[in-house]
Amino acid sequence: MGDNYSTYLLDIEGTICPISFVKDTLFPYFTNRVLELVQQDSRDSSISEILSQFHIDDKQKLQAHILNLVAKDVKDPILKQLQGYVWADGYESGQIKAPIYVDAIDFMKRKKRIFIYSSGSVKAQRLLFGYVKDPKAPEHDSLDLTTYIDGYFDINTSGKKTEPQSYANILRDIGANASEVLFLSDNPLELDAAATVGMATGLAIRPGNAPVPNTQKYQVFKNLEDL
Ligand SMILES: [Mg+2]
Repeated sequence: MGDNYSTYLLDIEGTICPISFVKDTLFPYFTNRVLELVQQDSRDSSISEILSQFHIDDKQKLQAHILNLVAKDVKDPILKQLQGYVWADGYESGQIKAPIYVDAIDFMKRKKRIFIYSSGSVKAQRLLFGYVKDPKAPEHDSLDLTTYIDGYFDINTSGKKTEPQSYANILRDIGANASEVLFLSDNPLELDAAATVGMATGLAIRPGNAPVPNTQKYQVFKNLEDL
């Protein structure tokens, strides 16, 4: 693909981070913390305040309610607030570190204009890139990659990732021509939407990703070293 682009737009899960991170790390971390936060009368007033918004006094019932929302993937604003708080605490306390691929870390350091577009909120994206596992010293303090990122987009800022209009919105916001931008994702529907407005696209093939039919339609990459 060479160095023909001034600007790179990156998906996160399945592209620069293992697809399993959310399911195998973030969600179990939240579930474990919920059990603890509901059972102990939390000394943290922010947590008590969020929990009180559910209006369920019985601890067993409150816990079951929250876990049920998670299991059913209900887009509940109080749940989102609680998750945001718990994950922020997990990152800030060093208990969660984002496993960004080493080739992606090098890429982000090497390239000038990097933007992120993920269905996870901008707030969650900033946390993720603020606390990245150092691949050369995983036991050390996490790396802060936010200094290498020029902007963040999510569904609220730009629209759904499978809609062409979302990519037009992003181009307007970053002030770039479509032809200068390479969008990388593991989801062919997202690549098709970006290609509709004229962006160049690359399909990420990473361990654990769902198999993609018709890969010959796309420029495929297994890591970002050659970009
Ligand atoms: Mg993805």
